[in-house]
Amino acid sequence: MNRNPRNIPAYSDGRYPGSYYAASRNEHPEYPTLQDDIQAEVCVVGGGYSGLSAALHLLESGHEVVLLEGARIGWGASGRNGGQIVNGLNASLERIQKAYGQEAADFVGGLVTRGNGIIRRLIADYGIQCDLKEKNLFAAYTEAHMQFLRDKQTLWARYGMNEHEMLDKDAFKQYVNSDVYAGGMIDHSGGHIHPLNLALGEAAAAVRLGARLFEHTLVTEITPEHNSVLVLTEQGSVRAQQVVVCGNAYLDKAVPALRDRIMPASTQIIATEPLGDLAHELIPSDVCVEDVRYILDYYRLSADKRMLFGGGTVYGGTDPADIEAKIRPNMEKVFPQLKDVKVEFAWSGNFALSFSRVPQMGELHPRIKFAHGYSGHGVTGSHLFGQILSDAINGNTAEFDRFKAIPWIPFPGGRAFRVPYSVVGSWWYALRDRFGF
Ligand SMILES: Cc1cc2nc3c(=O)[nH]c(=O)nc-3n(C[C@H](O)[C@H](O)[C@H](O)COP(=O)(O)OP(=O)(O)OC[C@H]3O[C@@H](n4cnc5c(N)ncnc54)[C@H](O)[C@@H]3O)c2cc1C
Repeated sequence: MNRNPRNIPAYSDGRYPGSYYAASRNEHPEYPTLQDDIQAEVCVVGGGYSGLSAALHLLESGHEVVLLEGARIGWGASGRNGGQIVNGLNASLERIQKAYGQEAADFVGGLVTRGNGIIRRLIADYGIQCDLKEKNLFAAYTEAHMQFLRDKQTLWARYGMNEHEMLDKDAFKQYVNSDVYAGGMIDHSGGHIHPLNLALGEAAAAVRLGARLFEHTLVTEITPEHNSVLVLTEQGSVRAQQVVVCGNAYLDKAVPALRDRIMPASTQIIATEPLGDLAHELIPSDVCVEDVRYILDYYRLSADKRMLFGGGTVYGGTDPADIEAKIRPNMEKVFPQLKDVKVEFAWSGNFALSFSRVPQMGELHPRIKFAHGYSGHGVTGSHLFGQILSDAINGNTAEFDRFKAIPWIPFPGGRAFRVPYSVVGSWWYALRDRFGF
């Protein structure tokens, strides 16, 4: 049997990127490569939060699960991200209401804090050590940004979310000691984590519940058969009753039908040397922060008091040649106090952008479901979608069907034009950010 009929190139050399997270990850086993032809009730493709959340919820409800990861657990966005637990989806409720109507907004509005709750439950139930800290802060540069946040607070309160508090410039400085902002809004129910250690802890929990995990196992083709689905990998195969595809931005050619629904985009993070007492001076509250611009900065302190500062977006998902040169000036604008500190780690990762910024869920066949496209805000969304996928396999399809019914918008002009179109889009948003309109 040709196990790689489309000649899918491996997208990884099998090692974690040179991130602070990889350097500080908890001890964990290396799971084997699949080298046999095996059977499973459910086969999950992708060892990021979407796949791990789906697997854990399925295992908890009594299913038998095999999970295939092309590189390492948490190798993708889930092990490289800003670690910010932000409630909601990337697309605002207002935007969802305008694009898809009040009913869709009401449906999503009822779910905006559930992903956060799932993360906290998994951390507590499985004793996951991932440096959980409380609260997240939205930073505003202008009065227009402040108004945007006030509107968000009002809108979310309608869905019973009352954890938001507006902060004027002085109140904001109690949380984050920077002069560049006009104020902001704190979400007392948000938080932040060491993202790779969360993924590794979830994988360990799945194994404890009986899952079979395989790393360095690239899926090359997924084919429905008479009473099952055949998942081909480079050296083996899984014949499963149900398949859940969670490869997100890294899936690319392995499932051609999903390729044009999303576009990979990269964003970068730098980690300074440990800052000692300076860390507390900069972020006395130890919260995580993101500003509300379209091309945003996001940052927080690590457990060992480094500044982890992220930003930038490269459409198409390539890595910039010099990440520190790109991100450091942004960090120094917010915190000039960091001018002379050393940057010890710099890395890039891909997230999956959907044209509407609303993540997508659906099925390619009654036995093949997928979720992807969190558009850069997916720590909570991926956990939520994993649970909804599991519910759907358990026969509770109400939420799955609602998301499935949200129309997805292809990138105009097809695949060849996705990057240029989005570059124009980002140029427009960058201009809006710059002139505050
Ligand atoms: C640098 C960065 C910073 C971010 N910061 C934040 C943040 O602070 N807060 C927030 O909410 N969101 C953030 N995000 C987004 C968030 O990390 C993602 O939305 C989320 O992790 C997506 O999880 P996932 O499991 O769907 O995808 P991924 O974590 O990318 O996992 C997909 C997995 O599938 C595997 N895979 C792909 N193809 C195959 C195949 N053919 N065979 C086998 N395995 C395959 C990949 O190796 C990968 O491990 C950030 C993203 C990046 C890149």
